[in-house]
Parts: sequence; structure tokens; C-alpha cells
Amino acid sequence: MSVADNLASVRSTLPEGVELVAISKYHPKEMIEEAYAAGQRLFGENHILEMAAKADVLPKDIRWHFTGHVQTNKIKYMASFVDTVQSVDSLRLLRELDKHAARHDRVIKCLLQLHVAQEETKFGLTPDECLSLLRSGEWRRLAHVSIDGLMAMASNTPDVEQVRREFRLVRQFFLGVKEEFFADAPHFRILSEGMTQDYPIAVAEGANMVRVGSAIFGERSY
Ligand SMILES: *Cc1c(COP(=O)(O)O)cnc(C)c1O
Repeated sequence: MSVADNLASVRSTLPEGVELVAISKYHPKEMIEEAYAAGQRLFGENHILEMAAKADVLPKDIRWHFTGHVQTNKIKYMASFVDTVQSVDSLRLLRELDKHAARHDRVIKCLLQLHVAQEETKFGLTPDECLSLLRSGEWRRLAHVSIDGLMAMASNTPDVEQVRREFRLVRQFFLGVKEEFFADAPHFRILSEGMTQDYPIAVAEGANMVRVGSAIFGERSY
């Protein structure tokens, strides 16, 4: 199966209104070009320098989403072009992104990454940490970042019901946050959940953005 075929088959399973981020980390630019030729414009990467190198040589109408751990000292390499940083897990990081985006006179869209999975290795804010970040209110004064929604990963487990419970929890939390902090802010609308192995469950539980890598590009060789 080609990248174009894989892309078409993933797309065919997504209801209207669900955005597909093609996670191209570790894959060469030629595969991104294949997906681009098949109409894909939204790509996600996990390493800032890798994303910057690809963005440099690929078409400028690609929207790049960053989904990995952000090293503050590398923000400068993506600040001029990154569309959305999905992995925001602190106020400090929001401030840094704001500062760098200001230098380019632009706004970087952000998703707050929520930690709900069982694994301790996953990054992100617990629901409580997320609420205290939002209650601080400081983010409202940051003119060059915009909080547009939440991102989460479910546990890496064959237990479908557990995965479903986690996505359900995130969706409830998302609705609560929207009501409490973003009632007058229609841009807060993105719920980014689900990867190759669990995106159909995420979609069934209300995700409107999925991040799919291996089902499109094949296995990664690290
Ligand atoms: C790698 C990655 C994905 C995609 O994973 P696949 O299993 O290849 O679909 C999605 N989200 C994040 C945050 C990732 O790091």
C-alpha cells in the first residue's frame, strides 16, 4: 500500500469535521511529499529540529503541528512557522512560546496536553494542574499564544474499555473547561485524541482531531 492509499483508507473512516494530523516523525520528506500530493496539508512532528529541517524544504502551505516534548532552548527554531503546539504542559512554556511568537509578530496556537493515561512516562498536565493553570488567568494576557483546545493520549493497552473511559473522561473535562473558561471564545474547540491503534475509539468518544502516523507512513525505524 502506498502512502496515498493508506491516507485514503484512514480518511474514509473519519466522519466529517474530524481533522487528520499526519504524524510524519522519523519519516523522510519524500513520504510527506506523497501525502501532500494526495491532498494532506496538516502534519505533525515530535522533534523541533527535524520539523524545522522539513518545513524548510517542503511547501509553505503545510500546517505544522508540534506534538513532542518542547525544549525551551529550541523554540526559536519553530517560532516563525509552527501552526500549533499540541504539547503545552506549563504556564512557563506558554510564556516562552508567547515571547518567541511576539518576535515574529504572530500567534502560535496551543493545545494543553492532558495526562490521563496510566503510564508514568507520558507527559502532560493532570486535570487538576490544568485547572490551576487556567484559573491563574495569566494566559489571558499572552497576546501571541491562543489556547485552542486539549490534547491527550490514552494508555497503551489492549483494554479497549479502559481506553474508552480515558477518552470519555477527557471529553467531559474538555466540555467543563470550555464552559468555565472559554464560553465566549469559539476558537477553543479542538479535542486532539487518538493515534493509529485507538483513533476510532477517540472519534467515537468525541475527538475532532486525530494524530495518525504508522497507519499512513508505516512502521518507524528509529
Ligand atoms: C507518534 C505519535 C502519534 C502517532 O502515533 P502512531 O501510533 O504512529 O499513529 C500521535 N501522537 C503523538 C503525540 C505521537 O508522539
